[in-house]
Amino acid sequence: MSASHDKTEGAAAHDKTDGTVKPSNFLRAIIERDLEQGFQPARHFAGSPGDAAHHAAGPLDPAKIRTRFPPEPNGYLHIGHAKSICLNFGLARDYGGICHLRFDDTNPEKEEQEYVDAIKEMVAWLGWNWESAAPSADGSAGGATANHLFYASDYFDLMYRSAEYLVTQGLAYVDEQTPDEMRANRGDFSTPGKNSPFRDRSPDENLARLREMRDGQHPDGAMVLRAKIDMASPNINLRDPALYRIRRATHHNTGDQWCIYPMYTFAHPIEDALECITHSICTLEFEDQRPFYDWLVEHLAQGGLLARPLPHQYEFGRLNLTYVVTSKRKLRQLVEDGHVSGWDDPRMPTLVGMRRRGYTPESIRAMVESTGASKTTAWIEYSVLDGYLRADLEGKAARAMAVLDPVRLKLENYAEIFGSLDHREPCQAPAHPHVPELGTRQFSLGPELWIEREDFLEVPTKGYHRLYPGNKARLKYGYIIECTGCEKDADGRITAVLAKLVPDTKSGTPGADAVKVKGVITWVGSHEGIATELRLYDRLFTEAQPDAGERNFLDLLNPDAKRVVQGYLEPSLAQAQPDQKFQFERHGYFVADRVDHRSDQPVFNKITGLRDSFAK
Ligand code: ATP
Ligand code: MG
Repeated sequence: MSASHDKTEGAAAHDKTDGTVKPSNFLRAIIERDLEQGFQPARHFAGSPGDAAHHAAGPLDPAKIRTRFPPEPNGYLHIGHAKSICLNFGLARDYGGICHLRFDDTNPEKEEQEYVDAIKEMVAWLGWNWESAAPSADGSAGGATANHLFYASDYFDLMYRSAEYLVTQGLAYVDEQTPDEMRANRGDFSTPGKNSPFRDRSPDENLARLREMRDGQHPDGAMVLRAKIDMASPNINLRDPALYRIRRATHHNTGDQWCIYPMYTFAHPIEDALECITHSICTLEFEDQRPFYDWLVEHLAQGGLLARPLPHQYEFGRLNLTYVVTSKRKLRQLVEDGHVSGWDDPRMPTLVGMRRRGYTPESIRAMVESTGASKTTAWIEYSVLDGYLRADLEGKAARAMAVLDPVRLKLENYAEIFGSLDHREPCQAPAHPHVPELGTRQFSLGPELWIEREDFLEVPTKGYHRLYPGNKARLKYGYIIECTGCEKDADGRITAVLAKLVPDTKSGTPGADAVKVKGVITWVGSHEGIATELRLYDRLFTEAQPDAGERNFLDLLNPDAKRVVQGYLEPSLAQAQPDQKFQFERHGYFVADRVDHRSDQPVFNKITGLRDSFAK
């Protein structure tokens, strides 16, 4: 598959409609052309999925287009799915259409209710709604509210009827070759396939066999139903693709009702047609399936099973994010082999992981929408996502001081200046420099503070303006101090930094700027600092495209992707709620962990730094 490194792909051509800027892309162009040409003027929708007769009895479809997001409930959604979600729901929103959330749950083996629930939760978290009101016939919003949540397994009866129809028309047959024989006879790109010896059975014989399959008279794998198309087709997908297989497995929705299950390539076009989807948008790997898609829906429409006009499939390039993998199988391996703590580990590119890490739906939507849609796989730099996160949080996250690598600072003349070691000198700062509505943070100075270990050097390097003996720096929102030295333990490790307050230099008081300093230091009073666990996250893999080429992506896991440290927070953070996001001054954006954070045992995750450090 080709990869493009264009991170602003699609962003060049913007069209402005209703005040919002949306990247233009080929799918929008197709839909706009269709709508201009008044395509599918007589499209009926009965209000629920169904066959041709069902829809014919219904009214004209008030939705101008219908799209769908069709996840298989066999794992958690990842950032690549966010692309598909935003594309499908976004196109429906922008063009007076409706997007269905459809669980493509035709494979009984790997699907579970847990995933169904998680997928619904994350689509809603991203801000989309499958219960939106259908627009009324004149295109205005406000038609009947409807729930566009569907399960492909609800269509098993219709799929089976479709299979019987194809058999009666001589368009499908039951093949009893072994899987090995079938594989060998399929041929390859350079060799045409060979017809199965079972290919010329009569429709009656095939119908009897298909019913035996359905009725459980044959063991799993004994035979399959295949379409009868062309074993010599240059498109291998047209060499009599399998439609149904025997599989005794309990399905999460239909239980043990069926022992035969439709293949994905057979089921999906039928699902689209039953739901009157107009634009069936999928990823590029399905391009070669499109001729079969068209073959199938056309024959079933001829047979009066599927309503016309028929859905049409369009393919776009997948979205990949650098430094992660976006394949459910590989993500599952990371979870099952214990490389991460679960699907919602904050290092994971799953939506549950990204939410826990602190990424906002707004930032994910903005990133995904900025990439448009194209015919090549899009590699998006992780730093682009972080840029959108910062843009989203900059204006709304309250500021706070936090010390991540603490060392004690002792103010030697504290009692002299304030009359007592017990005195607490109140200080304050705006919660946000430009958003006064967020209010003021209150904290106080005492004789001992926590500062960052890196803010003191016994011997300064060139250009270092923070604390070293004889140098002055400002305690942010507090006083100027002059460093006098440090204390060390028997191993020579620095245990405390020593300094003196410079009188009359308190921030915000007249004359505070009379003494000029170049360094500013963040701090937390040790009398009131909140001891906290800080989980510092970095990229999950050491290379941008960990699953490219032949190598094993597990060899490229970044061992330092998670570092846990103990630090101190200013007292304003005592009220922090799980999921609440902050900007820790000079350190970056942090979120109170939605799973582990408690007010008596705080846990904060680092989302990202204040500026892009990925490029370094
Ligand atoms: P995976 O390969 O990770 O298992 P999938 O395609 O099998 O993903 P589905 O549940 O079938 O997972 O996907 C639902 C929809 O999301 C499909 O329409 C699929 O094409 C789309 N999708 C999956 N991954 C991406 C991606 N990286 N970029 C864009 N769309 C994607
Ligand atoms: Mg899939």
